[in-house]
Amino acid sequence: MADVLVLGAGMAGVSTALWLRKAGLDVLLVERAGPEAAASYGNAGIIQAEASEPYPFPRAPSAILRVLAGREPSVHWDMRGLLPHLRALFDYWRASRPDRHAATSALYAQLVARAQEDHAALIDEAGPEAEALITRRGYLALAATPADLEAAAREAGRMHDTWGLESRVLDAAALAAEEPALAPGPAGAVHWVGPWSAADPGALVAAYRAAYLRLGGTAVQGDAATLAPVSGGGWQVTTEDGAQQAARVVLATGAATPALAARLGLQLRLVPKRGYHRHYETGGDNLSRPVIDPVGGFVMAPMRAGLRLSTGAAFVARPGAPEDAPQLAEAEARAAAWLGAPLRPAGPAWTGVRPCMPDMMPVAGESRLPGLWLHFGHGHQGFTLGPTTARMLARRMTGRNAPDVLEEALSPRRLGC
Ligand SMILES: Cc1cc2nc3c(=O)[nH]c(=O)nc-3n(C[C@H](O)[C@H](O)[C@H](O)COP(=O)(O)OP(=O)(O)OC[C@H]3O[C@@H](n4cnc5c(N)ncnc54)[C@H](O)[C@@H]3O)c2cc1C
Repeated sequence: MADVLVLGAGMAGVSTALWLRKAGLDVLLVERAGPEAAASYGNAGIIQAEASEPYPFPRAPSAILRVLAGREPSVHWDMRGLLPHLRALFDYWRASRPDRHAATSALYAQLVARAQEDHAALIDEAGPEAEALITRRGYLALAATPADLEAAAREAGRMHDTWGLESRVLDAAALAAEEPALAPGPAGAVHWVGPWSAADPGALVAAYRAAYLRLGGTAVQGDAATLAPVSGGGWQVTTEDGAQQAARVVLATGAATPALAARLGLQLRLVPKRGYHRHYETGGDNLSRPVIDPVGGFVMAPMRAGLRLSTGAAFVARPGAPEDAPQLAEAEARAAAWLGAPLRPAGPAWTGVRPCMPDMMPVAGESRLPGLWLHFGHGHQGFTLGPTTARMLARRMTGRNAPDVLEEALSPRRLGC
């Protein structure tokens, strides 16, 4: 019998399994078929060393009106997609009041500051296959006009003064010299120098999973919906190898977690921000690092499978075929203009959900149900932060010290769970 069952094999679950195994515990990773359903597979692949502040809900009336009027490319919505989440969105809006957002950022920044060190440890464990996926050239945030560039430079200066984040402001000529795959046109870009990027996010998770198995971890297919307490203590889940029990279980099932936890009596609210991606052949030289269009609300990232365009947030009732997502079509048109070349799809479109908590902090800790640990809710930065919160969770599971302030801030107890 394993010491711990880890349910869910995205970045959060796999990192948890790996850190727990490194700490010497017997771990069984319970996963569902089809890793490509995970957000950890379909994201933009940036390990965001610059994301010291989580994305707040817009507070300026003009920004809210733009979203409501459907004029903000980074957010798409329809009434039936939005209605079920009104309470969570209201909580998100309240938590985004500038003083509260600043207090959250002070904690969030501490997590982000650890992210690359924690990825580095797992990349080391996973070996050359993982290292080959990583580029350490930062990313570019494009500015269309001189006014946009000036505003972006001011914001970069603020982020430097507040969090010590390094960036460079590139004018049009410097941008053309450094990123020749871009067509002339933009006034320039801010180059965030710290972030890393992965050429295949799903492959990085798979490499961490392979490292976990090499260390003696085990994995089996099963459904977290079968999770149930065992009378007398512990937890049980049904897998293709039969029922598996352990004293402790970690539910790391991404955006599916609130629905699964609700079956056990834990009520969690989520702001589920759907996103899309698709790969393209650009017909020209590829980009050397990810490029963000902040106005268009999408990322162009050079990946092994082609240029991956990934979009902002959508709250839509029936996503339908991802190919039909208007955000993807808009991103495609803008990207073709930035690259000065038509984009030819190199694969089907993908959709998945960012698991965003209304208070913008991930959840990593033991719930009020003894032995049931939760690990999810990393929102826009779960690919970045999964290894860090996993390491903290593993330390809590194996240590005896009282939780520190950061661990308290991640605890499901803060949400009444
Ligand atoms: C378009 C887009 C771009 C993004 N870009 C970035 C980025 O550049 N950088 C960044 O840091 N983050 C990014 N993110 C966010 C990041 O992808 C997520 O925060 C992160 O992947 C969440 O990881 P997770 O392991 O919690 O969830 P997931 O990766 O979704 O994994 C959940 C796992 O649980 C499994 N599961 C679900 N239900 C069950 C069940 N009943 N039984 C068993 N298993 C189950 C799933 O199969 C899956 O394996 C982006 C997200 C999107 C959508």
